[in-house]
Amino acid sequence: MPELPEVEVTRRGIAPHVEGRIVTGLVLRRSGLRWPFPPGLPALLAGRRIEATGRRGKYLLLHFAHGTLIIHLGMSGHLRMLAPGVPPQKHDHVDLELGEQVMRFTDPRRFGAVLWHAADDGDVGQHLLLRGLGAEPLGHGDLAGLLHRQSRTRSAAIKQVLLAGDIVVGVGNIYACESLFMAGIHPNTAARRISLPRYRKLADAIQRVLAAAIEQGGSSLRDFIGADGASGYFQQSYFVYDREDQPCRQCGTAVRRIVQGQRSTFYCVRCQK
Ligand SMILES: [Zn+2]
Repeated sequence: MPELPEVEVTRRGIAPHVEGRIVTGLVLRRSGLRWPFPPGLPALLAGRRIEATGRRGKYLLLHFAHGTLIIHLGMSGHLRMLAPGVPPQKHDHVDLELGEQVMRFTDPRRFGAVLWHAADDGDVGQHLLLRGLGAEPLGHGDLAGLLHRQSRTRSAAIKQVLLAGDIVVGVGNIYACESLFMAGIHPNTAARRISLPRYRKLADAIQRVLAAAIEQGGSSLRDFIGADGASGYFQQSYFVYDREDQPCRQCGTAVRRIVQGQRSTFYCVRCQK
């Protein structure tokens, strides 16, 4: 599943190909994906210029003067830039035509979304799907303070609080496991019992692990421009994630797996307290 780093790498990948370009056509090969496509969307976009790209959590944003196209990659979606005339395959549901290039949205499992937020309806951050999102972790000036303040009433495990995404977005299962390991925090610790100094370590770990994933993905950018795009998702080397029974890279103790909220959590009993 694409996580925040994949979405950010996708944004950086498409940005030079779409920003400033005029939409010459929009081809929708179904009536919708997770939700129906907005009615009249092709006419709404035709002839309009993409002013900028953006991202909020895992939502990609294409800003126009009259509104914002919101794209979610769902469970299995990806975007590619292609030359016009490349025949669509079975799961190629949307083509955004931009003159000499096409941005194609492929989504085998169809959990993705293409939505529209009109400028007349106010800031896109107030869209129903975006307004409940937590803070962006990258570039946040006081992530530790935010986590500390907003967790004082949260007795749930810190791992669950991170995954909930209402304090900070983008810390999916992999990144939660990895950053808790890097910060030396046991994933079952009640969020409200974690001190500010420990949240400083956690915030630093979250920012480092996400930045590293983006950097690694950025180095393979050319792979998703015009390639077959079978998988643009990153395979990284992890400290604990998906390493049950393997030795901790720090102390050699076998990595343990527990289930929290139906998701696997991997951690080291010795390094994480
Ligand atoms: Zn260890």
